Amino acid sequence: MEEHLQEDLATLSELDEKSLLESLSQRFKQDKIYTYIGDILVAVNPFKYLPLYEKEVSETYKCHDKKALPPHIFAVADRAYQSMLGRLGTGPENQCIVISGESGAGKTESTKLLLRHMMELCKANSQLEQQILQVNPLLEVFGNAQTVMNDNSSRFGKYIQLRFSGTSVKGAKINEYLLEKSRVVQQDKGERNFHIFYCMLAGVCPDDKEIYGLLEPEQYRYLNGASLSVDMVNHWSKKYADVCNAMDMVGFEEQEKVDMMTILAGILSLGNIMLEPGEGDALRVTETSVGWLRAAAGQFGVQEEELLKSLICTMSVTRGEAIRRLHSQQQAEDARDSIAKVAYGRVFGWIVSKVNELLAPNVDPDVELREIGILDIFGFENFAVNRFEQLCINLANEQLQYFFNHHIFLMEQREYKEENLDWEVITYKDNKPILDLFLTKPIGILSLLDEQSAFPQASDRDFVDKLNGKFKAHPNYEVVRSHSPAFTVVHYAAKVQYNGVGFLERNRDTIPGSIRGLFINSVTPLLSLLFAATISRTGTLMPRKAKLAQIAEDNFNSTRKQSVGAQFKHSLGVLMEKMFAASPHFIRCIKPNCTKSPDVLDNNFVMDQLRYNGLLETIRIRRDGFSWRPTFKEFAERYSLLLLKPDTPLNRESCMHILNNTRFTGWTCGSSRLFFKYWHQEELARLLDRLGKAAVAI
Ligand code: ADP
Ligand code: MG
Repeated sequence: MEEHLQEDLATLSELDEKSLLESLSQRFKQDKIYTYIGDILVAVNPFKYLPLYEKEVSETYKCHDKKALPPHIFAVADRAYQSMLGRLGTGPENQCIVISGESGAGKTESTKLLLRHMMELCKANSQLEQQILQVNPLLEVFGNAQTVMNDNSSRFGKYIQLRFSGTSVKGAKINEYLLEKSRVVQQDKGERNFHIFYCMLAGVCPDDKEIYGLLEPEQYRYLNGASLSVDMVNHWSKKYADVCNAMDMVGFEEQEKVDMMTILAGILSLGNIMLEPGEGDALRVTETSVGWLRAAAGQFGVQEEELLKSLICTMSVTRGEAIRRLHSQQQAEDARDSIAKVAYGRVFGWIVSKVNELLAPNVDPDVELREIGILDIFGFENFAVNRFEQLCINLANEQLQYFFNHHIFLMEQREYKEENLDWEVITYKDNKPILDLFLTKPIGILSLLDEQSAFPQASDRDFVDKLNGKFKAHPNYEVVRSHSPAFTVVHYAAKVQYNGVGFLERNRDTIPGSIRGLFINSVTPLLSLLFAATISRTGTLMPRKAKLAQIAEDNFNSTRKQSVGAQFKHSLGVLMEKMFAASPHFIRCIKPNCTKSPDVLDNNFVMDQLRYNGLLETIRIRRDGFSWRPTFKEFAERYSLLLLKPDTPLNRESCMHILNNTRFTGWTCGSSRLFFKYWHQEELARLLDRLGKAAVAI
């Protein structure tokens, strides 16, 4: 029983799957939600308020030795900050904190707590700190939504880089990944659209509603025609005030705000446009949605006929001649939804780029800045139906697992080898083959997908057939025999079957060619800017002028655009490069149950997560390894009391002398340092204590 309350599970005398779970569970019962496993912090979501984050607590965790206090997320923030400054024995260097866990496990809350504590640590310019803390609510209202897993689920991944000069923060930069744009047009049962829509509907005053052309929530198809409960109105109208404040602080101009709200209202109107067969082969707007077409055109600042045209037909250029192809009803509805998705995606990208402009460090270019990055990205997903989005998310998780393995396992191994230790090679699940399956050139899953996406005639079935042809012998690939195109990838965490339907379209993510031209000419300046500018890979907007030439070209030729898969692969590559160049810290968030209840821990549910996030494997490795590695000098100095004679040199021999006089087993001696297990430090402390007392007694 006592043992289960251990704060660092790597020190347990016996640790296996069962005892790990038992320990976390016992601690959880006592509201001890944080536990270390060596360097890794495990955080179990309490789903209730705990008095763990008060001002006094954050004071205690400033500049404190991690071991002296109970495990805490503030201790991780402190350690990252101190090591960034070079105060923890290594030189100053960039840091990254990787937070993982499934939806609702507490990643985003952890990110906010880390940011908060770091801002406390480096009190210098309080305005910038406030700004850094306030951009989060802004990003959340545009990028988060209620799902069945989490009432405030982030529907995008983010990497926040805090930039420091010396001890003080000078700026920050946010990279966002894979915003779930499809949510704008469709939500599953029990789920909602992005918060901002409810926030506007609840918070905008009647006069402004008129300006934006915003009606009642029940009227909008993209919101499933649901009305807002009294509670929701109260909640969201308060949030709306916060959002307005945050936008002012970030430096949105009044006109930009009006434009943005109007574009969002336009997206809702657009969703209500229904089409039906008209005269000849062309579609027409249904009688009941004529008003919606007019409203959307007005809100987007474009001509009604032009907007309609972009829904009912596609223009293409063949041998210098413009050709008009009429849409089927399905194609027209897809065009409508893709306009809504692209418009929302651009608004979101624009907000992030505004935030980045505001937070950009204002220092001389020759001032050297150090970084602490915090990664909050979706965990591994394995649903009843897994689509292209799950494939991207799971690929990101494979990369992160690879990063984790690399650090925990390979780095350990390398150091032992350098010290000429007898090192029986540790075995662990290397997931490099899975990464290769996705990323290898010229034929990984992603490049095959791009190849097929480039053929307008190719179908999802063709894509899956190609995959089957190339990878049927790959150990991490399994052919699925079924009518619908499907394939299975054996991920590090579990086997996932992907449904190939929609892969090509989602990867292409084409904007109807005419839409770009239409919106560039919008009389709404913001909309025109969003489509004239290209959001660059780094997430910042590129100015209109620089991109106009390319746009003219793109206008009729949307295949030139980089695919979603290729963009994601690129940004993942950039992220990994950054992370491999930094010193890492890991936080593993665990969701105790799937009903978001406090005080309930479902064993099977938690065990799956321990496996998915690689903790089970880690435990074995860390326990097998040596966790404490003082140099001869450090050790001899610290334990000089145990040396018999004064003035003995602080070298290897003296260390051996000390250790041979103890009954310690399990330690070993390298070429420059000693290697101990976790428990040795404690045993030595006890020994010193006894000797100290004995000395006083004499
Ligand atoms: P994730 O980002 O992993 O999907 P969140 O960080 O949004 O999950 O957390 C989901 C919910 O769990 C939060 O809205 C909050 O209600 C609760 N929660 C998370 N962490 C804590 C915590 N440390 N203390 C209390 N409640 C928490
Ligand atoms: Mg989140």
